[in-house]
Amino acid sequence: MDPIPPQLDPPSRLLMGPGPSPVHPRVLAALSAPTVGHLDPYFLAIMDETRTLLQRLFGTTSALSFPVSGTGSAGMEACLANAVEPGDRVVIAQNGVFGGRMADMVERLGGDLVRVEVPFGQAIDPERVRAAIANKPTKLVGIVHAETSTGVAQELQEIAQVAHEVEALLLADCVTSLGGIPVALDTWGVDLAYAGTQKCLSCPPGLAPVSFSQRAIEAIRTRRHKVASWYLDATLLLNYWSGERVYHHTAPVNMVYGLREALRVVMQEGLAQVYARHQLHHRALVAGLEAMGLRMLVSPPLRLPQLNTVEVPEGVDDVWLRRTLLDDFNIEIGGGLGAFKGKALRIGLMGHGARREHVVTLLSALESVLGAAGVNVPGGAGVHAANQVWHAAASR
Ligand SMILES: *Cc1c(COP(=O)(O)O)cnc(C)c1O
Repeated sequence: MDPIPPQLDPPSRLLMGPGPSPVHPRVLAALSAPTVGHLDPYFLAIMDETRTLLQRLFGTTSALSFPVSGTGSAGMEACLANAVEPGDRVVIAQNGVFGGRMADMVERLGGDLVRVEVPFGQAIDPERVRAAIANKPTKLVGIVHAETSTGVAQELQEIAQVAHEVEALLLADCVTSLGGIPVALDTWGVDLAYAGTQKCLSCPPGLAPVSFSQRAIEAIRTRRHKVASWYLDATLLLNYWSGERVYHHTAPVNMVYGLREALRVVMQEGLAQVYARHQLHHRALVAGLEAMGLRMLVSPPLRLPQLNTVEVPEGVDDVWLRRTLLDDFNIEIGGGLGAFKGKALRIGLMGHGARREHVVTLLSALESVLGAAGVNVPGGAGVHAANQVWHAAASR
């Protein structure tokens, strides 16, 4: 008989990659609270509070916001499966891996896919989207707000206007933006959005907050065909998350506790403070990296504070570098995906992970690892440059 494996004892990593990010201790505590039934009156109240907190974070008063059971990709699939019917024309803007995933899902759903592709590291110009729409009846335009594979932030308001010129719905991937940079679905005119818990919300992976505007709900209610996915059918989900409270599937009760606590943490700090904290530590990190001779891959106006892409220095093997950071310093950072594979390091400063002590720890560990790889890094230069950013901010 095989021996029983030992007791669980995971290493305590400093998660500074593209997610999952460090889990807030209050969230971990909430996850271990007593499980109640998924129709228990106590839990129904928790669900309502979670929906209201999500609406606030998404920047909407009229859309229906709730978490889908599953990770960010389940949120992506929920939005597309509900909005897209076979034969619908769908324009997907692609400047990284996640736009590519959206396009794949549209094809699987039988949509008539039109891609707008721009190179990794760039943003999408609204004119490119207008040209792809070409004044033809279009059901939906999909775009990524915070492209985690490249570290690029995407403007959404103009894209929404372009989509609405032909009455298309706008779908935005907010997996990495929600909780890291402002999201204002109502102001911008975003009709469908999805996110994930493990990026800037300081939760483990497991839920996908989504938001459907009244226009999106109307489009779903007037579909010609049933939604192909029973599990992700929004009308069934909304009958459980609001209204009749009809059993659909068993909600992951403790994950909802965790998400609710994560949202409370964010609201108690204050949205303006949360976004300013991400910006400050991002600026300090970039100053430190550049002082060490490293080069950022995204131009300054497009940079996401929560996901920093850095060029792998000449002559350094990125797999070795990341493995050494993990083995010797317990730090996880990400490698490049797609066109950035082998070329980029991805450093996350997400949610509870966006903290001064993490930036200092990473900069000094990087100095040591780069030194071991034979890269000449001036001693202490990274931390010194980062300190100047924090000192300047504190004396303002
Ligand atoms: C992480 C991520 C996803 C996918 O989320 P999973 O939780 O891995 O399923 C989708 N879009 C973006 C922009 C992401 O960063």
